[in-house]
Amino acid sequence: MEQKQSIIPAKKHIALVAHDGKKHTLVSWCANHANILKKHSLSATGTTGNLIEASTELEVTKLLSGPMGGDQQLGAMIAQQHIDMLIFFWDPLSSQPHDPDVKALLRLAAVWNIPVACNEATADMLLTSSFMESELPRQQPDYDEYLKNRLN
Ligand code: PGA
Repeated sequence: MEQKQSIIPAKKHIALVAHDGKKHTLVSWCANHANILKKHSLSATGTTGNLIEASTELEVTKLLSGPMGGDQQLGAMIAQQHIDMLIFFWDPLSSQPHDPDVKALLRLAAVWNIPVACNEATADMLLTSSFMESELPRQQPDYDEYLKNRLN
């Protein structure tokens, strides 16, 4: 599919997800970076979001729990371009019952070319980027053009 130029806004809608083995790490990371995160909009899978709200002053829109459909909800939001960035601390040392959903979420983040961090080091790099405070130009699939060509 052809790509087109678009913009990730300065105020970003950030998705936060952590598997059980990584929840403590993500909650601590959010607490340490609350001064930056509070300038953006935050959404999270159910358990992750509740834990972040219980431990920080951050406001989080809480979706369903990941294994109950929360990862798929986030994937749909990415496809609808309602999520600009994904912080997903998945646990590489334990198997997950909802592994297909995890894979689907990461796939859609790649399709729509949003910044993704799957571990703390990458999340630190993303959050210290100057693009956290400014617009980020990005290429994204040109679905309208694709449809036009398919219909003609
Ligand atoms: P949870 O979901 O935040 O509801 O635990 C995360 C996941 O495992 O996908």
